[in-house]
Amino acid sequence: MIKTAYISIGSNLGDKLGNCTKAADLIDRIPCCKVMAKSDFYRTEPVEMESSEWFVNVVISLSVQLSAHDLLKSLLQIETALGRERGKICAPRTIDLDILIFGQDIIDERGLTVPHPLMHLRRFVLIPIAQLDPDLNHPVIGETMAELLEKVPENGQAVIPLRER
Ligand code: ATP
Ligand code: CA
Ligand code: CA
Repeated sequence: MIKTAYISIGSNLGDKLGNCTKAADLIDRIPCCKVMAKSDFYRTEPVEMESSEWFVNVVISLSVQLSAHDLLKSLLQIETALGRERGKICAPRTIDLDILIFGQDIIDERGLTVPHPLMHLRRFVLIPIAQLDPDLNHPVIGETMAELLEKVPENGQAVIPLRER
């Protein structure tokens, strides 16, 4: 079955924009997976971590004919290929790829929770995903991306469009 998935791409180490662009290209090359749309790129303030380095973030939508588990496996391989090192939690990372939404599926297993459990609290996710599809329903909360975005305070979560693409 073909589904639409939304992936968050983020980097706060090295060539941040280059890392995000490369990740999107590699995701497009996963078999049975096609990038349909890309949000703007944003410079975003780090949240939930001490790191002083800002991120570059983007969200892409995919047309996928894979299971969510197989998609995650491929995303983790791309993270490794782009030099992601798994050390300390919250350490700066060359690339972070999270499955935000997978169709209207709800998955809560060890190693895979979809929708991503923190997405509705993060402006660096909600701004780009609402740019792609403001009416997209969050299958657990039952509200749209635009509605969720309105509820998140801006304080400490700056999200600034990056002009060059
Ligand atoms: P956060 O989840 O707060 O964004 P993180 O992205 O820094 O944290 P990671 O260290 O990148 O966390 O990921 C740890 C593990 O999370 C991954 O190995 C993966 O198995 C698991 N995981 C669970 N749900 C998801 C999801 N929806 N997308 C990506 N990884 C997920
Ligand atoms: Ca993440
Ligand atoms: Ca991750």
